[in-house]
Amino acid sequence: MLAASASLLNIKIAVLDVGEAAPAKQVVSLPSSTSDAKKLAHIDGSFKDPAKIKELAATVDVLTVEIEHVDVNALEEVQRSTQVEIHPSPSTIRLIQDKYRQKEHLKEKGCPISEYIRVDSTVESVKDAAKKLGLPLMLKSRTLAYDGRGNHVLKDAERAQEAIDALGNREMYAEKWVPFVKEIAVMVVRACDGTVVSYPTVETVHKDNICHLVFAPLRGTDPSLGERARTIAEQAVAALDGAGVFGVEMFLMEDGSIFINEIAPRPHNSGHYTIEACETSQYENHLRSILSLPLGSTALKVPSTVMLNLIGASSSMSEIQSVVEVALTVPGASTHLYGKSECRKGRKMGHITIVAPSDAELRTRLRLLLQALPGSTQ
Ligand code: ADP
Ligand code: MG
Repeated sequence: MLAASASLLNIKIAVLDVGEAAPAKQVVSLPSSTSDAKKLAHIDGSFKDPAKIKELAATVDVLTVEIEHVDVNALEEVQRSTQVEIHPSPSTIRLIQDKYRQKEHLKEKGCPISEYIRVDSTVESVKDAAKKLGLPLMLKSRTLAYDGRGNHVLKDAERAQEAIDALGNREMYAEKWVPFVKEIAVMVVRACDGTVVSYPTVETVHKDNICHLVFAPLRGTDPSLGERARTIAEQAVAALDGAGVFGVEMFLMEDGSIFINEIAPRPHNSGHYTIEACETSQYENHLRSILSLPLGSTALKVPSTVMLNLIGASSSMSEIQSVVEVALTVPGASTHLYGKSECRKGRKMGHITIVAPSDAELRTRLRLLLQALPGSTQ
């Protein structure tokens, strides 16, 4: 989606990812290898491979990431030894990679976060955390977590060893269980000079720890909520370094208070709706910010919108195809399939955004898609 956005501005993009048919490479036509080290070419390799990162850096002016689980040491080396600009800054990516350090940073900056503590991968330490923060307890792997992989809910302190095993013995920490009434999110764009602008606050609905639906604008009885969430998100992103878009995930509590859950240093699932529903998409604004171009308006241009993630139900695309077939008949529905080579249970394979002239019409249109989802009882 970033590549598609770049092509409209004649911005040339080279992609580092495994395979010649990696999704973003399907969008941008470039030679996949070249003997000329200065010529822009896609690179076949892992974004965790320092040599490949340096190979990519040798051909570009600006380097950015669409996933935070990259090799930051290599990015820092590129930063030290070349003129290549890196956004967001490697120090921000390093900070966000470690969810515990991220919490410490947010706390230090005065951002609202719920209680958490350090935990060692030992039964005593986990039991101690359960005593201090209560049950259920959310145990989280400090690194390499996404789509709920890296989270474990401990309901019984006697099952501490099971929790440690489930997190693969990785370094972890514990969060107090947050009985939120809603999950909300704000995409924030940070310009090179540190200016921040935000998109409207959205409601995110998760299923099995994975984002399922995103609604905008936010509806509810408290008219100040959307603005309060945007201010919190903007302040949190202003306290980070480097340009780009950031996804700020938050919890809304019964009493109207807000906690930040986590920040993603990149275009984010909760901002996919911006492609069809806002004056400038999160992808275009990411490009504008990292290239020091004027930022585009973040305003909604439709009365109501929803994004539905297309998540693999099995190794077959057939379940997703049946939703897509319906989407093609629904007014205001735009389908995005990512071109990933393999479908797997729980893997994000695409999404559909619906726009509508009213919330009621949006719900009617959405219902048609939800009825086509596997396991639907509607
Ligand atoms: P990921 O990196 O997988 O997105 P998150 O930390 O955002 O991990 O957790 C995934 C989901 O788990 C959240 O969106 C929320 O629904 C739930 N969750 C996370 N932390 C807590 C918590 N402390 N209390 C209750 N639910 C939580
Ligand atoms: Mg999350």
